[in-house]
Amino acid sequence: MMQTPLTMTQMIKRAEKYFPKKLVISRTAKGIERFTYKEIGERTRKLADSLQKLGVERGDKVGTLAWNHHRHLEAYFAIPCSGAVLHTINIRLSPEHISYIINHAEDKVLLIDSDLIPLVEKCKDEIKTVKAFVIMTDEDDLPETTLSPVYHYEKLLAEASSDYEYPDDLDENQPAGMCYTSATTGNPKGVVYSHRGIVLHSMALGLADSAAISERDIAMPVVPMFHANAWGLPFAGVWFGTNLVFPGPYFTPKIIAELIEQEKVTMTAGVPTIWLGLLKELEEKEYDMSSLRAILCGGSAAPKGMIRAFEQKHHIPFIHAYGMTETSPLVIISTLKSYQEDLNYEERLDIRAKQGILVPGLETKIVGKDGEVAWDGQEMGELLIRGPWIASEYYKDERSNDAFRDGWLYTGDVVTIDEEGFIKIVDRTKDLIKSGGEWISSVDLENALMAHEAVFEAAVVAVPHEQWQERPVACVVLKDSYKDKLSKDELYEFLKPQFAKWWLPDEILFLEEIPKTSVGKFLKRALRDQVQKEYLQ
Ligand code: ADP
Repeated sequence: MMQTPLTMTQMIKRAEKYFPKKLVISRTAKGIERFTYKEIGERTRKLADSLQKLGVERGDKVGTLAWNHHRHLEAYFAIPCSGAVLHTINIRLSPEHISYIINHAEDKVLLIDSDLIPLVEKCKDEIKTVKAFVIMTDEDDLPETTLSPVYHYEKLLAEASSDYEYPDDLDENQPAGMCYTSATTGNPKGVVYSHRGIVLHSMALGLADSAAISERDIAMPVVPMFHANAWGLPFAGVWFGTNLVFPGPYFTPKIIAELIEQEKVTMTAGVPTIWLGLLKELEEKEYDMSSLRAILCGGSAAPKGMIRAFEQKHHIPFIHAYGMTETSPLVIISTLKSYQEDLNYEERLDIRAKQGILVPGLETKIVGKDGEVAWDGQEMGELLIRGPWIASEYYKDERSNDAFRDGWLYTGDVVTIDEEGFIKIVDRTKDLIKSGGEWISSVDLENALMAHEAVFEAAVVAVPHEQWQERPVACVVLKDSYKDKLSKDELYEFLKPQFAKWWLPDEILFLEEIPKTSVGKFLKRALRDQVQKEYLQ
């Protein structure tokens, strides 16, 4: 067979050539803007030309601090396709972590949304390697800033050439992108994506039994483009000629619902907290959601009650999936086997609420105390993964040796696998509750609590215990209409039939909100501290 390189240039060129009329729809300060792939293709070439004029060379890192919009999409292709490295920076990290990762990655140019300028200004004295700041703004003029030298994105494009040709000798193994993932302690850890990894991962997103992204879709990545490349949706979408909808900055559940209705979005993707918000919105106001063929949900466990509510009440199909920044991210996706379709809804839901089965192209191993675990849905072990879109190390980081061993990524996730090969994430190793030598899954308790109609959110954490070592404590946020109307005892009664007695939380605390991470997941560390302070007093 031919050894043609799997590089990202073929993705954007395909969109330009075969899908010039298809659309990128972007919510900006000007309202809803529409661009054809012909226009996006030209603008992307112009951006590549501009970056070259700013001195960006092959292998240089270009950072982005930006929301989900068309300019960020242009950066997604202009940077890697010209041989540089797209470094998407999580804007929700602390200024200390932001300056750390900019310096660690050695970003040469930063592309910054105008509303995020203050964030960069806060770190500017610490930033060592950046030679130019490019502001992505909808205004004609640059806003006031202390950053220097500073350029206007649109003005750079106006002066650039759309005849720019991407280099045709890129190596498929060279870095195309990078993204830092937060660590339990210390600085974030860098993950580098190769062209080959991105191309193969995009291919996996298009498989019929996976996310099945196709030309027919109108796909809206709600998951931020600064978080694991918006799960690769922008890459796959461009390659397949999919219409893409970008929700822009500061969106609300209302905006998401309106975009789905107005743009007839067929598939969208994000973490469970986004969908809990949308569910609340749909309960308050009627929207036409009939265009949606799938909500893709991952990043943390999708509660079964939430899946049921979307599907039964709102007729919106839900797909649960699992991945990590280190894995590009798609690894496991919960689509049923044909013969499982004959089961009744609740039985199917039991399977589909698991994270799912491995996508083709990857391999896993689940290792417990005594070697690989049995396929019985009971025995727990750590999930190990390998494959062509799985990172092999952290970028210039000594912590690589913990996670990457013997050719496998040790995920730190504890899972079970059933007879059919469906994997269920039981917990993160660090969040499991170790009670009297046995494990209690915080995730299982949370899902059960969130299935109660009065519960908006629930998180369960371990507190130290003299006799049992650790015990679970549940933190519950009630829906507004149930505030002060539901007692702890009622929740205990609800949980009792579902769990062994020793699994029941020692305490249920009602909170106003649950602290969240930069990407909207429960911040268990902070919650544990808070609970220990309040509960152990
Ligand atoms: P962070 O460490 O910042 O959360 P990632 O987004 O890379 O970064 O998170 C990956 C982790 O998220 C996984 O290791 C796993 O613990 C969790 N996760 C991802 N998807 C799911 C899911 N569907 N169900 C449960 N946990 C999930």
